[in-house]
Amino acid sequence: MHQYPNLEQALKYNFGYDKFRPGQRQIIEDALQNRDLLIVMPTGGGKSLCFQLPAILKKGLTVVVSPLIALMQDQVESLRNNNISATFLNSSLNAYKTRSREEAILKGQVKLLYVAPERLLSERFLPFLDLVHHQIGISAFAIDEAHCVSEWGHDFRPEYRQLRSVRKRYPNIPTLALTATATDRVRNDIIQQLALKQPSIHIASFNRPNLYYEIRSKTKSAYAEILEIVRENEGSGIIYCLTRKKVDELTFKLQNDKIAALSYHAGLTDEERSTNQTRFIRDDVRLMVATVAFGMGINKPDVRFVIHFDIPRNLESYYQESGRAGRDGETSRCTMFFSYGDIKTIEWSINQKTDPQEQLIAKQQLRQVIDYAEGTDCRRTIQLGYFGERFPGNCGNCDNCRFPKPVQDWTIEAMKFLSCVARCKERFGMLHIIDVLRGAKTQKIIQNEHDKLSTYGIGKDKSVDEWRMLGRSLLHQGLLEQTNDGYSVFKLNALSWEVMRKERTVSIAITVVQKPIWEGDSEKAAEVEMLVYRLRSLRKQLADEQSVPPYVVFPDSTLKLMAQVKPKTLVEFGKLSGVGDYKLAQYGDKFLNEIRAYCQEQNLSENKANYTPSQGLPTETEYFTLQLHQQGLTVEEIAQKRNFRPTTIIRHLSDLIDKNQPVDLNLLVPVEKQHKILQVLEILGDIALTPIKEYLGDSYSFDEIRLVKGKWRRDKKLK
Ligand code: ADP
Ligand code: ZN
Repeated sequence: MHQYPNLEQALKYNFGYDKFRPGQRQIIEDALQNRDLLIVMPTGGGKSLCFQLPAILKKGLTVVVSPLIALMQDQVESLRNNNISATFLNSSLNAYKTRSREEAILKGQVKLLYVAPERLLSERFLPFLDLVHHQIGISAFAIDEAHCVSEWGHDFRPEYRQLRSVRKRYPNIPTLALTATATDRVRNDIIQQLALKQPSIHIASFNRPNLYYEIRSKTKSAYAEILEIVRENEGSGIIYCLTRKKVDELTFKLQNDKIAALSYHAGLTDEERSTNQTRFIRDDVRLMVATVAFGMGINKPDVRFVIHFDIPRNLESYYQESGRAGRDGETSRCTMFFSYGDIKTIEWSINQKTDPQEQLIAKQQLRQVIDYAEGTDCRRTIQLGYFGERFPGNCGNCDNCRFPKPVQDWTIEAMKFLSCVARCKERFGMLHIIDVLRGAKTQKIIQNEHDKLSTYGIGKDKSVDEWRMLGRSLLHQGLLEQTNDGYSVFKLNALSWEVMRKERTVSIAITVVQKPIWEGDSEKAAEVEMLVYRLRSLRKQLADEQSVPPYVVFPDSTLKLMAQVKPKTLVEFGKLSGVGDYKLAQYGDKFLNEIRAYCQEQNLSENKANYTPSQGLPTETEYFTLQLHQQGLTVEEIAQKRNFRPTTIIRHLSDLIDKNQPVDLNLLVPVEKQHKILQVLEILGDIALTPIKEYLGDSYSFDEIRLVKGKWRRDKKLK
């Protein structure tokens, strides 16, 4: 067995990581002391490593109990890709496979064995464990998703209850219980049910600093905003909707917009669901549109954004669902679209409940979601407060902290609104009042002769959404009432009259839809992005060859590091976080070659001036390309003659066009295609090529887009 001078080196050698995440080191030290442990960490906190590294360092076999087959396979694949010997036993294996795995275990060739709880307790398995115990030793039991043992949790599994008897059978083998559940009651239950002996308890903060939380109001432009989020963020995303129907509709729309999306909900067959899930995990598609049925047991660490297109049922589910973003610690985004229409739908379904107690709880939970969404405090303070954790606020990574909502005096508008309610004799709801204010000519208005009211058309200066925002705010501030009979008719109260008599002012927090900020188009950022794009394809290819998800090969963060650092040697490559010893040997050369090829094409070392190609005069190498182009050579011919890759020549030509040199674009890109690309550039602006290509679809190549982008930039400057 390997001897490591210290835990950090063991971490680097086996997993490739440079340092421990908060809490991991202490936990691992306790585990090496053979203590029982209760580990409570949020999703993405890095729980697995807490039993995996001790398993490698200790003698014997660590038995991991895990509730879902998909999770087991996932972890085993990841471990094997670090050359750590792990295996699983579950019902998906035939007798032959089971036996050969058992034999390997008894030969001491396996460090980690994953089993489902029901298997652990089966008559055939216990004697086998006894054998393991005597022949090679059991180093620990690790109980993953330990909250399944508790009836108070959201995911109770009766089989977990019997783990206690295993505990009795092997009283001296240390047991680690791991969970992401935040409540006290469940934690105590775990300790009791698993009979943990004076466990060392580690409770990490539930703050997930890498997640950006934002609430947007669900206006007409919501779909366009989703498209923007999808195009702006590379990588995978999940969109949650309330119903199957909405899932299917949204998937269809996205597919129509050339976005690789699949759906997931209880209406699909088991097979469809599992295929869609696999395609998502393997990065064959980018987006999963789903009901909340999707996500349990999805270990995909590189989900870059989670969008709740409809509001969640309660804050705990919101935390769990949005928390599926960014498990790998990379910057990720959680967006909730909030609409009062959705609340109506949920309220309606709550009212269908027969148990009054259940109704009450559901209503209270809904209220908490509304308060969260409408709150102007730091989102983290509200969320973590919900779990009993104090957070000082000012996180700098939520919409309220980054863009504090300006409060404006809308007294005049409120007076207009309320008197319109009064003139309409308190018999109408939001839409009609806004129609009257904005001077619409609806049938309802004509019938009721509301076009003759003094308030008719006095609110044309504000949009429907603005009036609606005011209306809601008046309701929440208690300055206006609404009937509960399903018709939501506005009723005035004493405070409304105070406002109308000018005895009270009205301020409202203005929600401005945040325009997403495009990543700076500095040439450097674009370079890194181009290279990451290529490294991603290489990763995908290597992953497909082994039938594993791409993140098993390398996480996103490591690809980014490769593109930034551009290592030249295996030694440099091995230093990157995420490159362990085995992966270095396995993949090092392949990735180095790709990076080298890329650098050569970019002439990075040859000519620094090339770095700012879009400025001023052509560089020497570009002149040469221009000459050959003017002699009538094709891109391929120029590339061959100059011993460059064709993409380099395309880059030269694009920059030449940008610099207003006589390149004949019509020879390179068909005119219709030029038009289409120009149109898209007008919409998307000067951003990286990948999202533009995503928008245009497969019939457009990167080369074509790059060339036309040169023209577009030139035209902008000439204007
Ligand atoms: P959890 O089970 O707590 O949700 P995981 O164990 O799946 O989290 O870990 C989440 C991600 O973080 C995984 O991709 C894992 O490889 C990565 N990770 C764990 N520990 C570290 C570390 N010390 N440095 C960098 N990445 C880590
Ligand atoms: Zn904040």
